[in-house]
Amino acid sequence: MSKPDYTRVLLKVSGEALAGDQSYGIEPRFLDDVARQIVDVARMGVQVAIVIGGGNIFRGMAVAAKGGDRVIGDHMGMLGTVINSLALGDAIRRAGGRSHVFSSVTMPSIADTFTQRGAIAALEGGAVVICAGGTGNPFFTTDTAAALKAIELRCDVLLKGTKVDGVYSADPAKDPSAERFETISHEEVIARDLRVMDTAAFALARDNSLPIVVYALSAREGLAGVLDGSAPSTRVG
Ligand code: UDP
Repeated sequence: MSKPDYTRVLLKVSGEALAGDQSYGIEPRFLDDVARQIVDVARMGVQVAIVIGGGNIFRGMAVAAKGGDRVIGDHMGMLGTVINSLALGDAIRRAGGRSHVFSSVTMPSIADTFTQRGAIAALEGGAVVICAGGTGNPFFTTDTAAALKAIELRCDVLLKGTKVDGVYSADPAKDPSAERFETISHEEVIARDLRVMDTAAFALARDNSLPIVVYALSAREGLAGVLDGSAPSTRVG
């Protein structure tokens, strides 16, 4: 396998990716598969930081839609990301890698509080860094946390796994003539009104010239294949 061009990457893992076929919680088979792919990339010498979602446990908006308080719902969602982060950190260790969980929601008996210097030191020391707790604030998403941490940790790229293998000119599920872009600029994504990430996350990436690589979570070549270019993807930026 050829050496990837990236020194340090930020991988956004959605909560759904850990739930697998279930609608709720963590499916051990999917958790172990994600962990194995991450360890493979770390072994190639790439520094890996991760932000995990919590949609497989709680979403603040869903709590609010049922009459609950949005801020409390978001706190519940952020705690869900901590659960996922602890599970992934442990699975990475079982897969033979080293992991270090930091949380943007302070809970020192469970995880170190996120700081830029602490996380960069852990990355430079060869650990896979997992950033739990999103941004630490309600009304944000883990996509925004992923863009924020990627910029803060000076990552070369934000890797966003989705159900499709890149950014298309139209929805490929509805329009058979839709074509996948190999590369596209942040500006063109906005001009064509294509959805890559939520608006706040995308604006942060654009304003800080952070490239985003969109790929399929189901890519046969795995995450290593996304980095060495053998798996299809779209690079934004
Ligand atoms: N959340 C939050 N602030 C953040 C990140 C996440 O309040 O900075 C909450 C929010 O309620 C969100 C939930 O955590 O719905 C889970 O995150 P997200 O929906 O981004 O997870 P994913 O869809 O990636 O699984």
